[in-house]
Amino acid sequence: MSDAVTRLNEVRSLIGKAESEARRPAGSATLVAVCKTFDTDAIRPVLDAGQRVFGENRVQEAQSKWPELKADFPDVELHLIGPLQSNKAREAVALFDVIETVDREKIASELAKEIAKQGKKPALYVQVNTGSEPQKAGIEPTDAVAFVTRCREVHGLEIAGLMCIPPADENPGPHFALLGKLARESNVPGLSMGMSGDFETAIAFGATSVRVGSAIFGVR
Ligand SMILES: *Cc1c(COP(=O)(O)O)cnc(C)c1O
Repeated sequence: MSDAVTRLNEVRSLIGKAESEARRPAGSATLVAVCKTFDTDAIRPVLDAGQRVFGENRVQEAQSKWPELKADFPDVELHLIGPLQSNKAREAVALFDVIETVDREKIASELAKEIAKQGKKPALYVQVNTGSEPQKAGIEPTDAVAFVTRCREVHGLEIAGLMCIPPADENPGPHFALLGKLARESNVPGLSMGMSGDFETAIAFGATSVRVGSAIFGVR
């Protein structure tokens, strides 16, 4: 068994344990395996082990890997978890099943155009900058509910959830709690939160998907 598959199984069992400790149904937190920087040879064993949901943070890198992998594993669900430039909206809608990083008006309007043009409908998440970090993408928490409303009413987009990346040096719990509160206020069901270091905490705070990279694939 490859190291990645051993670690995948460990992560799956920790997710199951966290779900049960939070008195949540088994399988209620989806594992998004984040394989950025890893090549197709590293990803294939994880696909062979049955993992089907993957995350990439760059459109171009994903384009170089996933058409080939999706040909062999057509039921893969691919998530874009990195910042989206508006000039990449076409490629993103063509390749990704879930786009987690909608964070401004321009992206919302470009995505709406491409969705109409291509007849494809990726699930969309709004990224919230819960720590208001200047270097980080995401809509400000105070603007999040109004932005979700504008996505729906101005751009005709369905919003499936919210996503956040808490500040690296802070206790993530309050950030997860804030994202949950904003999701309830904007009436969206999905909560994408939690990474290798804190996915169990995120599950305790209601994460419906966790994005785990290095705990599966190793150091980048
Ligand atoms: C890289 C990345 C992850 C995974 O991070 P790990 O700490 O390796 O689990 C999760 N979310 C986003 C947005 C990322 O860019």
